[in-house]
Amino acid sequence: MSRLAIEQIPVLSDNYVYLVHEPQAGLTAVVDPAVAEPVQERLRAKGWRLTHILNTHHHPDHVGGNLALKAASDCIVVGPGADRERIPGIDVTVGDGDSYGFGAAVARVFDVPGHTRGHIAYWFAEDAALFCGDTLFALGCGRLFEGSPEQMWHSLGKLRALPDETRVYCAHEYTQSNGRFALTVEPGNAALRARMQEIDRRRAQGLPTVPSRMAEERATNPFLRADSPEIGRVLNLATGDPVAVFAETRRRKDGFRG
Ligand code: ZN
Ligand code: FE
Repeated sequence: MSRLAIEQIPVLSDNYVYLVHEPQAGLTAVVDPAVAEPVQERLRAKGWRLTHILNTHHHPDHVGGNLALKAASDCIVVGPGADRERIPGIDVTVGDGDSYGFGAAVARVFDVPGHTRGHIAYWFAEDAALFCGDTLFALGCGRLFEGSPEQMWHSLGKLRALPDETRVYCAHEYTQSNGRFALTVEPGNAALRARMQEIDRRRAQGLPTVPSRMAEERATNPFLRADSPEIGRVLNLATGDPVAVFAETRRRKDGFRG
């Protein structure tokens, strides 16, 4: 049984870095440290010692703080085996189906290629916490830099199968613009419209919209809803092929300015 304490650190323009603290063993991981200094500051404020870095993928806004934090704390760097040569300071590689022990907690690892070819997600099942980097966002998903729509739809399928109460700790605050786009492909989704009102309210107060819960993502995130009849109709793709619908949704989002 574990009870993780999770700290959210906003950095750069819209990144979220997370501290994950396991109190029994006194372990603290940082997920995707874009930069080192704000992480050090929060560690000092909490009185925690950094023991692990958990990376989801190789992009600079996710690994930029790795080497400085490792030099300062001698922590263990964990990342995707499929991308070992692109993760600075990597010590331990993990991949699909692995369980990574973290004191009294366990992270299940999923391979979720699409945004990058080696992208992984960490799921702390007992604590209902998912760290999914740039694969799944609140109301969105990552751009397909190194993968196909088919691959990404399959990756997102693994995440959307997680329990309702799973908190989705994604790596960016993109929710409001994602939501504006979502409304263009599924305007009749009442849950989406209600969620968007709440998001607008929170952003007007400068509050984060992350983490969300998997149940609300399944109900409102168009990138998890390629099997929605309304989205198929709006995209003129009433083919019943979710990969085609997903691909077209992603393509439109790439060109969306709003
Ligand atoms: Zn990325
Ligand atoms: Fe990113």
